[in-house]
Amino acid sequence: MDLQIQNRPLLDLYALLLLEEGARTNLTSKADREALYQKHIVTSLAILRALEDACVTLSPALDVGSGAGFPGLPIKIVRPEIEMTLLEATGKKTSFLESAVGALKLDGIRVIQARAEDLARDPEHRGAYNLVLARAVAPLPVLLELTLPFLAPNGVLAAPKGSARQREVAESASALATLGGTIEATLPLQIPGPGPQQALVLVRKTGPTPDKYPRRPGIPAKRSL
Ligand code: SAM
Repeated sequence: MDLQIQNRPLLDLYALLLLEEGARTNLTSKADREALYQKHIVTSLAILRALEDACVTLSPALDVGSGAGFPGLPIKIVRPEIEMTLLEATGKKTSFLESAVGALKLDGIRVIQARAEDLARDPEHRGAYNLVLARAVAPLPVLLELTLPFLAPNGVLAAPKGSARQREVAESASALATLGGTIEATLPLQIPGPGPQQALVLVRKTGPTPDKYPRRPGIPAKRSL
């Protein structure tokens, strides 16, 4: 990958922290976990590369449903100038994220434990981000309700998607019209090695999101727009 990578030693440290954490919680072998984490890191950097190639404004950024930090944390490590917020609903995962951010000694990053449906009602966060990232969190019509309220006018949601993306995009027309979004592009992700072809769906915030969205926690997934 011919991406300009800063802080490569920090990426290695992050991979090590993931391995240690995975050893406590995961039954797969160390070699499998190592390959998996490397793949997640490479995918995160492929997302960054696609965004930079498309000249998307990268800061401030919010990673919704960040899990163990993908894709927001590797992106923050190699582009430390980005103001990054990692949002995750599960306390066990935010504890790991907080300890990783501390160990990596990163500035300009915060970890928030909350549901997107709740945080999007907080005036400090609603309409506050130029970029929202979300990987493997929900099908696109649901994801739009969880993420578009966070975007500033003209901001971008970047959602990596696999083979279901055409169907998900086709099913998103009503959510896009309701929430003020427009599909701007689908960018190929350059991820070496085997595995399904992935692409980055970019959604631009082209209109206001009505105050009633997102609906209560759980409702966007139960009754997608
Ligand atoms: N993005 C990470 C990755 O690609 O490895 C994690 C993906 S994991 C399959 C989905 C994560 O999204 C879980 O950690 C889950 O707790 C979180 N999540 C799901 N719905 C959420 C919501 N409404 N608000 C905040 N986090 C949510």
